[in-house]
Amino acid sequence: MVNGAKKSWIGRLRSGLSRSAGGLSQGIAGIVSGRKLDRETLNDLEDLLITADMGAEGARGIVEAIAAKRPGNTENINALLAEGIETILAPVAVPLDIDAGRAPFVVLVVGVNGTGKTTTIGKLAHLFAARGLKVAIAAGDTFRAAAIDQLKIWGERANATVFDKEVGADPAGLAFDALESSKAQCKDVLLVDTAGRLQNKASLMSELAKIVRVIKKKDETAPHSVILVLDATTGQNVLSQVDLFQQACDVTGLVMTKLDGTARGGILVAVAARFGLPVHAIGVGERIDDLQPFEAGAFARAIVGLEAAET
Ligand code: GDP
Ligand code: GDP
Ligand code: MG
Repeated sequence: MVNGAKKSWIGRLRSGLSRSAGGLSQGIAGIVSGRKLDRETLNDLEDLLITADMGAEGARGIVEAIAAKRPGNTENINALLAEGIETILAPVAVPLDIDAGRAPFVVLVVGVNGTGKTTTIGKLAHLFAARGLKVAIAAGDTFRAAAIDQLKIWGERANATVFDKEVGADPAGLAFDALESSKAQCKDVLLVDTAGRLQNKASLMSELAKIVRVIKKKDETAPHSVILVLDATTGQNVLSQVDLFQQACDVTGLVMTKLDGTARGGILVAVAARFGLPVHAIGVGERIDDLQPFEAGAFARAIVGLEAAET
């Protein structure tokens, strides 16, 4: 990646997180000024991190990482905090690994309505196609005609084949047929879109379970990846979404979108600390190349409002 492009997405991440960062810096300044970095100060910091959406586990982990360095004073508190956050995030910063030998490698994309599933599929398709992989997409949100059309447009942009059916078609049947066609056409990757607008928890679970069951009829090792898409502007509800979708299907990784907007970046720290699921990528815009690998250090610095470290 050229340096300019890298700067611009980090710039958008930083501005998306600026509200979180602003609040955090103010809070930190209020807590540390004129104090030593003793247990009491650390406890106050921990409370602040919880109010910044980072969750009890996240806040505790960060403060422990800071304490382990025995800094003594509060000079460089922002850098210490960024390092503490990076400690929580680094283990989950895991790229999505495609085993092209699966022919196709099946990725099921799930999440509540509007989080950015379809957009993320378009961006992933573009990434994989740019690597020379043959990409197919199953337009599994069959609830709305507009959803199917939206995916066809992404397919054209990304140079991926889109398999679709009429509105109201059974998404499991569509997934099955798309997998069969993908095998016949020697596709390397099949991305399966799903509907998020499901009436209740039971219908969500049974629909996703059915899609997975039917995919397994064609390839018992599939889906090879189940990506849950989360919207960074949502806040605490993200935690119950992860819970719900983990019960409904075997989530193997996360993508967090809309980190360029008015994101609540702390929630990603809470999710990382509580669930430990890989975060494959982040969405920093609506364009096709606005999906970036998740970099723990860059994210941690942006969340406390520090410039990105030189690389
Ligand atoms: P779905 O219902 O989960 O499939 O969500 P969509 O992919 O249709 O996205 C919902 C809206 O969020 C659309 O307007 C997208 O353009 C927008 N969106 C998705 N990802 C991002 C992102 O990373 N940043 C921004 N700013 N908007 C995004
Ligand atoms: P059920 O609908 O709850 O009985 O679940 P099944 O596992 O039997 O199948 C679910 C859906 O997957 C069906 O409605 C079909 O649309 C689709 N399906 C299952 N097996 C096949 C198959 O062999 N060929 C095709 N084309 N679709 C299948
Ligand atoms: Mg969609």
